[in-house]
Amino acid sequence: MGVTEHRSRVSARAVAALRAGLLLAAACALAACTPPGPTASAPGSSGSPSPSVAAPGSVSASPLESPGPAESEGYPVPSDNPTAVATADPPLAGVVVVVDPGHQLGNRHFPAEISANVDAGMGVRKACNTTGTATPDDVPEATITWGVAQALTAGLESAGAQVVLTRDSDDDALWGPCVDVRGSLANDRAAALVSLHGDGAPSGEYGFHLLVPGPDQATHAESVRLAEALRARLDAAGLPRATYVADAIRASNDYGTLNLSSKPAVIVEMGNLRNASDAATLTDPAGQLAVAQAVAAGVQDFIDDARGGASS
Ligand SMILES: [Zn+2]
Repeated sequence: MGVTEHRSRVSARAVAALRAGLLLAAACALAACTPPGPTASAPGSSGSPSPSVAAPGSVSASPLESPGPAESEGYPVPSDNPTAVATADPPLAGVVVVVDPGHQLGNRHFPAEISANVDAGMGVRKACNTTGTATPDDVPEATITWGVAQALTAGLESAGAQVVLTRDSDDDALWGPCVDVRGSLANDRAAALVSLHGDGAPSGEYGFHLLVPGPDQATHAESVRLAEALRARLDAAGLPRATYVADAIRASNDYGTLNLSSKPAVIVEMGNLRNASDAATLTDPAGQLAVAQAVAAGVQDFIDDARGGASS
């Protein structure tokens, strides 16, 4: 179902602003740069409920203008190949990353659909999806994960990655997709899956943590490496580790999104949405951008490490 034209325009502007900020961040090679100032948040946009492949990053390869031959007086003439001054490939060129914004805004209107059992891997069947939690001010988890996913997508694309989003809107008229779809969406070609969520723990608890597949799963070790890379960048961004999860990483076979990914997969519980401080951070566009930049940098660190290359 559609959304208003006005809403679409607002969203386009917000995403453009985020992209601009993240391109700036990418210029710092996703290193320890000062984050740009607050930008507009990315509310929902129109679109179908089906998963989508985001457009590849617009990595400009526009050749520098050749100075041309001429005024040389016996000196070697520069090459007339306009691409002679080539720019290096962006760091994530050729890498496919699945970004899963947890839940969908309209899930609560479709109790039958989201409670239908689906294959959740590891011999378990579970509900297709859940409504997710909300902040004390009733900002839905689905909208927060959507906002961070937009900024994360822009950051990864500006580093050259191709992003596969598991949903292409935050829409009160839509539900799903189910966890089995989210987990297996790009098993054939993705390098990693990052699923974004906010927790619904007791309000006195706060901080981020990361969920990885259990120790008996083939993806466990690599997923732990991805989680450690993300944790290091979230630490560096000054985000607090969860007060209720040891070392902020927990392995579990309970999550279909993780169980059904054949590639390294991590659920990022970005904070406890029932906690006032975490809720304030994660509903603030600057806070969402900080989380997205940290996650994008962590993904790049993980890919660099897997390639055996040095991280910038
Ligand atoms: Zn969630």
